[in-house]
Amino acid sequence: MIRKIPSFIEIYESLIKIPTISSQKKTLDQSNKILIDLLSNYFSELKFSIKIQNIPNTNKFNMLASIGNGTGGLLLSGHTDTVDFDEHSWTKDPFKLTKQKNKLYGLGTVDMKGFFAFILDVLCSINIKKIKKPIYILATANEETDMSGARYFIKSTSIKPDCVIIGEPTSLQLVKAHKGHISYSINVIGNTGHSSNPSNGVNSIEIMHFIIKKLLQLKTYLRKKYCHKEFSIAYPTMNFSSINGGNAINRICALCNLKFEIRPIPGLTLTQIEILVQEMLQVTFKKWPNRIFLKNLFFSVPPYEFPKESKIVKKIESSCNLIPITANYCTEAPFLKKIAPTLILGPGSIEQAHHADEYLDCSFIEPTKKIIKKLIIKFCY
Ligand SMILES: [Zn+2]
Repeated sequence: MIRKIPSFIEIYESLIKIPTISSQKKTLDQSNKILIDLLSNYFSELKFSIKIQNIPNTNKFNMLASIGNGTGGLLLSGHTDTVDFDEHSWTKDPFKLTKQKNKLYGLGTVDMKGFFAFILDVLCSINIKKIKKPIYILATANEETDMSGARYFIKSTSIKPDCVIIGEPTSLQLVKAHKGHISYSINVIGNTGHSSNPSNGVNSIEIMHFIIKKLLQLKTYLRKKYCHKEFSIAYPTMNFSSINGGNAINRICALCNLKFEIRPIPGLTLTQIEILVQEMLQVTFKKWPNRIFLKNLFFSVPPYEFPKESKIVKKIESSCNLIPITANYCTEAPFLKKIAPTLILGPGSIEQAHHADEYLDCSFIEPTKKIIKKLIIKFCY
């Protein structure tokens, strides 16, 4: 059989070479169009039909490649964007695939453009004519920021595969549940004045002190009340990420800002957290009316869990010899689950994701190809 697309390593190189950074900072944020076009070309060569969709009001795109007719089948999904990188911490070129000591370095090698190189390589090694159910490949945009790619895709698609596999770097373990993420910013507006006379102003740091006390109560409450034993950190966590306020030693501090995040376990919804935060801060809102302003930062991701007793999990467990586990990071699973049962399973370790000198350990290469092949055979043959 003549191979219609470049070799595994050449594809990998071509994907890493195209910068596709997603960032909340407008100056760093990039379109993923060139990468989407490249992927479309590769999958077209393999006779897949391609649908490209533009995420409204952005320069970002999703791609759905599909082959085979009928219902069911398998959807393999990955995001096309990466996080930003710190050029001072990287010792290698983030956009050049560098092989060194059995590792493949580059931004997106594990998180997660590399996953598409695996899929393409496996597709070259199987007899596509034999498939009885469709194979879908989804490439999403903006996973690293607001997950708008996955959010938009589920609203606009009618496909119904039997299973979705997201190839995030799970060290080839089968992840069936993960935590969610919600983050807040609180501004306290006081009144400034000369520090020699406290009655000159309202000190925002002192108000923030009461707010922090209340949030710490909530942190303890969440830890005591909610538990999911399958998680390595079995309770919802809260983290104060930053605090800023004040500008001169002799001035009453007029503005203080606090940022914090909560990571809920499955069983605790985002709405419940919203209510708990509001309730906990109610007394401070009443005591200092029009001085405390709470808002959500970024976009929240719900916690996710797929029942490990389900048929799909059992099927993957037995055919690929995997045991379902949980993870503390977030993925697009809470959105893609609207299409089909969704699990996370991919090459490389999450330890290397979002880190300088991100790399894929080459020991994952052959096992990953085997697993993807098994999944296609199990779900589509
Ligand atoms: Zn990722």
